[in-house]
Amino acid sequence: RCFNFAPGPAALPFEVLEVIRDELFDFRGEGASIMEISHRSPAFAKVIGEAETGIRTLLGVPDGYDVLFMQGGGHQQFSAVPLNLLGTRRKADYIVNGTWSRKALKEAQKFCEVNVAALDDGTRAPRQQELRLDPDAAYVYYCDNETVHGVEFDYVPETGGVPLVADMSSNIMTRPVDVSRFGAIWFGAQKNFGIAGLAIALVRQDLIGKAGPACPVMLDWKTYAQSGSLFNTPPVFAIYVSSLVCRWLLQQGGVKEMQRRSALKSGLLYQTIDESEGFYRTRVQKDSRSRMNVTFALRDESLNEPFLAGALERGLKGVKGHRSVGGMRASLYNAVPQEGVQALADYMKEFARRHG
Ligand code: PLP
Repeated sequence: RCFNFAPGPAALPFEVLEVIRDELFDFRGEGASIMEISHRSPAFAKVIGEAETGIRTLLGVPDGYDVLFMQGGGHQQFSAVPLNLLGTRRKADYIVNGTWSRKALKEAQKFCEVNVAALDDGTRAPRQQELRLDPDAAYVYYCDNETVHGVEFDYVPETGGVPLVADMSSNIMTRPVDVSRFGAIWFGAQKNFGIAGLAIALVRQDLIGKAGPACPVMLDWKTYAQSGSLFNTPPVFAIYVSSLVCRWLLQQGGVKEMQRRSALKSGLLYQTIDESEGFYRTRVQKDSRSRMNVTFALRDESLNEPFLAGALERGLKGVKGHRSVGGMRASLYNAVPQEGVQALADYMKEFARRHG
């Protein structure tokens, strides 16, 4: 197999794929695959139970928070957040510093007045003292790791009691999180937590049930909270994969161990960029460099294609930057091994020596 640096859908741990293969035709003695058994069967209840318990254990989710398994990906949460949280208030604060917080803001503008609490064009996480928060906002929204630009927050914004909402799609399960500081955290599964088709929301219970009567039933967090995420047919295979990822994460040592590994992996690539005498450059400020998505450009852009072709020849896949920003991006999610990152760093050095 290649080393997969794709931003999502992303690499899965090899051990998880092995279990999926072994259980594919006969799921734990059921005589059918996980995709063919009832989502209301005891066998599936165990699977979704393992996923929920795993999330609660790995992230230390406190009592008083619900774990909701939803479909519709990240984009659905862009709509669900305002629909569920505005209540009688008509305003929300958005910190905008990249593609995904900008998209979330655009969607929220359909439902309410939006205050841009801070704005950056994808080079840094705005600092606490720069935030212009509106005390009347229903919530404060931000994206903890901007996947396209490679910008990650190194702090949790203080909001003076207004519920804080975070999109952690691309850095969940990669470091400890104090969930009690948030009104809601949501994440798509397809990077660090499984496959596409599943989005998970951790929501403080007092914030559930505030959606208005016009809120579509499948966007209302209450629908999932009241039914144990079994209101309709859930994405059974995606939930199953996430339950296996939970198991894998716990076996590996949990999110603290993922934090240690991600610091080593991203540190190696940033060091390679910094020591390349300008051959490689990153626009991202040091305090905001993402541990998950390392974005960089070659000084001489005419070398982009040969760089990518050489990477592919060595089995280093998915290094091309997002079409909106160009350049390169290496995504270093939990399933990407140190050995792969070492191979990429070695290749970058060799390429710079040859072309510098
Ligand atoms: N939020 C972040 C941080 C993302 O990286 C992405 C997609 O890559 C999304 C939201 C959108 O997710 P989806 O494609 O599931 O709608």
